[in-house]
Parts: sequence; C-alpha cells; structure tokens
Amino acid sequence: MPELPEVETVRRGLAPVMEGARFAKVEARRGDLRWPLPKDFAARLQGRTVEGLGRRAKYLLADLSSGEVLLMHLGMSGSFRVFHRDDESTPGRYHHERAKHLAHDHVVFHMANGAIVTFNDPRRFGSMKLVPRAALEQEPLLRALGPEPLGNEFDAALLARACAGKKTSLKAALSDQRVVAGLGNIYVCEALSRARLSPKRRASTIALRSGAPHERAQRLVDAIKAVLDDAIKAGGSSLRDHRRTDGALGDFQHNFRVYDRDGKRCPTPGCGGTIKRIVQTGRSTFFCPVCQR
Ligand SMILES: [Zn+2]
Repeated sequence: MPELPEVETVRRGLAPVMEGARFAKVEARRGDLRWPLPKDFAARLQGRTVEGLGRRAKYLLADLSSGEVLLMHLGMSGSFRVFHRDDESTPGRYHHERAKHLAHDHVVFHMANGAIVTFNDPRRFGSMKLVPRAALEQEPLLRALGPEPLGNEFDAALLARACAGKKTSLKAALSDQRVVAGLGNIYVCEALSRARLSPKRRASTIALRSGAPHERAQRLVDAIKAVLDDAIKAGGSSLRDHRRTDGALGDFQHNFRVYDRDGKRCPTPGCGGTIKRIVQTGRSTFFCPVCQR
C-alpha cells in the first residue's frame, strides 16, 4: 500500500497539470471504486477549476472553484497517469504499457489545458469523494488523523506526548494513524532502523515519567523526517503497484536499510548484525537486533 512518500510523489506529478486547470470533461467509467463515486460526480467537476492540490496523510485534496474539495485515495493499487493530447500519436513503450492497463482505467480527467489524467486501479480499493470545503474539518476520513510527520508541529515533544503511557510497541504506535499520519510498514521499519530503536521497545519509553520527551523521541522524529524526505526525493518506493504519474518507478527500495532484507548484513557501520524478520500485530517487521535497542 502506498505510504506518504508515494502519495506525495503522485501529488507532485499531478500538480503541474492540475493546479489552475479546468476540468473540460470527466469520464467515470464505472459507478464505484472502493465506495460508490459521489452522486453526479462528473457534472460536479466539469467546468470547475482546481485551485490547489494538497495532501493530508495519504489523501490527495483538490480544492475546486465550486467550493468543494475532491478527496482522492490510492488504496492498495491505485495510480494516476498523465499524458498530453499532443503526445497521443507518439508510439513507444509507454503506449504498449498502457494497453494492458486500459480495463482498469476507471476515471479520466480531461483538463482544459490538454492534459489527460487517468486513474487506474486494478483492485479498486481507491476512493474519490467530494466534500464541501467548509465541512473538511468534520470529514470522518480526515478527522482522526494525527499530525503530518513533515510538518513543523511534529516534534519530539508531540510524539512523546502521544506515546506516553502507551503499553504497545513502538512499531504499533508509529503505525497508528492517530499518533502520526501517513506512515506504514516500510517507513516505520526504516525510521526505527535509522533511529537505532527496537520495534519491540515499549512506546512509552520515548517519554520521561513527566511526559517530556526522552532523547530517543528526538532521534526518532529526526529519523522519520529524514527517511520521508529521502524517499520523496527518490520518487517513493516501487513495490507492487506504485508508479509516478509519468509511469516511471520510484527508486527508494534500493535504499532500504532493513525492509525486506532479512538474513542480510545490517548496513550500520561497525554493527555486523543480521537483519531479522518478526511478525508484530499481523505484519512483518524487519530490524537489526544488534544496533536497534
Ligand atoms: Zn545493526
């Protein structure tokens, strides 16, 4: 499932063609993705301009001139492709690849600037929803989300407060979208490795008894921000279905320290440990038992 860096990569790919652009025509080729598409979906978009394209956790938020916000989620296998009307006759690998995916092209945005933005989703766990801008704060999909990890407000004090008193593991706490939004299995494992903290460590141990941050909380916050920044720079990680909007694959999987590397040597200089896989709350965790304490 795409995590924050993959969704941010998609946002950056869509922004240049969608921001400030008008929907000339919208095709909804089926009535539902994970949930039914909004009533009169195409009609509510056509003729409207995208005033801005933002992101909250793993949601893309297109601010529309109608006063509504289009919320889009990639689900497990959703991806967007962008191409320009002018390129349509260009032969090559790109079109060859497109052909086999055509059956899963469920929503197509024809922008007035000539860009064609296609949402493809073989497993249909993705979603699109229209919400009045004024009601966004009460939106159930967004309301329970914790802080954005790349935002200024996400710091050691905030993370320590969220983890203080928690008896769950650090892995479980960081995977909880109410504690911090947008992290999943990959980036939680990678951040814990960079912070040299064990995923099995009790979450409460990053806070002092007073609730103030332990030094570990600062290390963890720094690691989370760094791994997300690096992953966004690399265009996300390409596992299963994540692609950039130009069809290219992200590269960050080549930089994994621990994820999916069980049995391999730990990359921490001088460590010499071997990456281990364990199962926590039903998910695989990868870590080095030597340097992650
Ligand atoms: Zn190690």
